[in-house]
Order: sequence, then structure tokens, then C-alpha cells
Amino acid sequence: MLHIACDVHTHTIASRHAYSTIEENVRAAAEQRIELVGSTDHFSRMVATPVDGAYDLRDYQHFINCDCWPRTWCGLRVLHGCEADIVDLDGNLFGHDQKLVEAIDGTPYKTPRTLADRVLSSCDYAIASVHASEFANGATPAQVSRMYVRALDNPRVLALGHIVRSGLEFDLDEVLLAARERGKLIEINESTLRDTPRAAAGCERLARRCAELGVMVSTGTDAHVSAAVGAFSRTRELLESVSFPQALVATADADVFLDVMRRAVG
Ligand SMILES: [Zn+2]
Ligand SMILES: [Zn+2]
Repeated sequence: MLHIACDVHTHTIASRHAYSTIEENVRAAAEQRIELVGSTDHFSRMVATPVDGAYDLRDYQHFINCDCWPRTWCGLRVLHGCEADIVDLDGNLFGHDQKLVEAIDGTPYKTPRTLADRVLSSCDYAIASVHASEFANGATPAQVSRMYVRALDNPRVLALGHIVRSGLEFDLDEVLLAARERGKLIEINESTLRDTPRAAAGCERLARRCAELGVMVSTGTDAHVSAAVGAFSRTRELLESVSFPQALVATADADVFLDVMRRAVG
């Protein structure tokens, strides 16, 4: 039986359209015998409204105080990450163009930073995903491939999230090989597998190609409620059906994942 012991894509109430607290997610993961859970709330325009085009760090402050979480909680390892939106064809992440002038208590920053830098530097890792894809309307597959490769070049990005869900066309091999070259991960997303038969077929193609090219994958439920945390039945079924090599599952256990993460995002 294939070992999957980490759920590295989960959401809490901080994502606003998710319904459980971090503690509820951790407890649910422990019940599923998960060894490591990564909490990856949306770092995205989804969760806040800009004022005069500017986003405020106060709307994202839940990302910057996670050091107060126990690193081991209910017996499992807990990481704090984020799921950052890819926002343009250059593969930039949400907040890259938002200059911060003050801290959450109003103290002016001596050295200006961007919102993306402030949030990503306080995360263990980021998953880069496309949600609102209108910026890519009319883009060629080559441009979309380049976008994903550029996102992988971001030093804080560990994995590309649900790449079959956006509906964008791109050169799969080019993106997978770029991930392999950088020691980064391609996500097999449990929620996408449960989405539509078409989405599930896309996941199967993705898993087969990762196996053929020797690309490591991560597993994430993309749970938006604690009941879904650590529940990998479709992911397990898919990976076993394509005889996916255990050695390419970066989420096989906590030590494997931590090792891959430290090498890839430093
Ligand atoms: Zn979401
Ligand atoms: Zn997600």
C-alpha cells in the first residue's frame, strides 16, 4: 500500500470561505493518522478588499504570527504555509507589487517591503496556484508554461497547486521537468479528483507523466473543512492505479517531506 502521511494543502477560517480552525484541522489530521499537516490559507485577493488599489497587511496578519503555534501538536508536525495566487503571465505571486509602509500596529517600516515578501518570508513554504485566470485570457500555451516555470523559480515556492484545474493550456512536460530540475513538487489535489470526471482524468494524466518523467509529487486534500483533512481516498486510489513509484511521493512521511522542503525552499 502506498504511503501518504502528510497533508500539505489545507485551509482554515483565515481563508474566509473555509470553516475550521487550525486546531480542528490538526485534531482531524491526527485522527486520520497523518504525521505532518501543512496549513496553507489563501494568500490572494479572495480574502480582502483593496482600498484605493492597496491591500493592508492587517488583512493578512494571520500569516505572520504562526511562530506561536506548537511545531508538534496532537503528536503531529505542523507547518505554516500559504497558497499564493499566481497573478500574471510572469509568474508573479499575489502581493508582489504591494508596497508596505507600516506594520500591523501602524509603526512605519524603515525599509519598505512588499506584502508578498512580508508574508512569504514568514511561511515555511508556498504553494503557487492559479485561481482567477482572466489575466491569462488569450495567452499561448508557451506563455502559460513560462508562467508556471517562473512561479517555480520563486525561492519560497515549493509546489504548484492543482495545475489541471485552471483550464489553461500549457506544455505539461516543460513544467514538470522544470519542477524536477529545481527539486520542487507537483501537487496531486484530492479536491480536484472529487471535482468532475474531466478533472479526475486530468489528474490521472498528470500522475502518469510525473511517474514517467521522475517528478516528485506532493499530496494535498485542499480541505476547506476539518472533516476533509487527511482524507486521501481518491489520491491513494489514483496513485495506486497508475503504480506510482513510492520514491516520488514527497509526502510519504514527515521526514521525507521536511527534507524535500528544506532542500527546495531553504
Ligand atoms: Zn479555497
Ligand atoms: Zn487550496
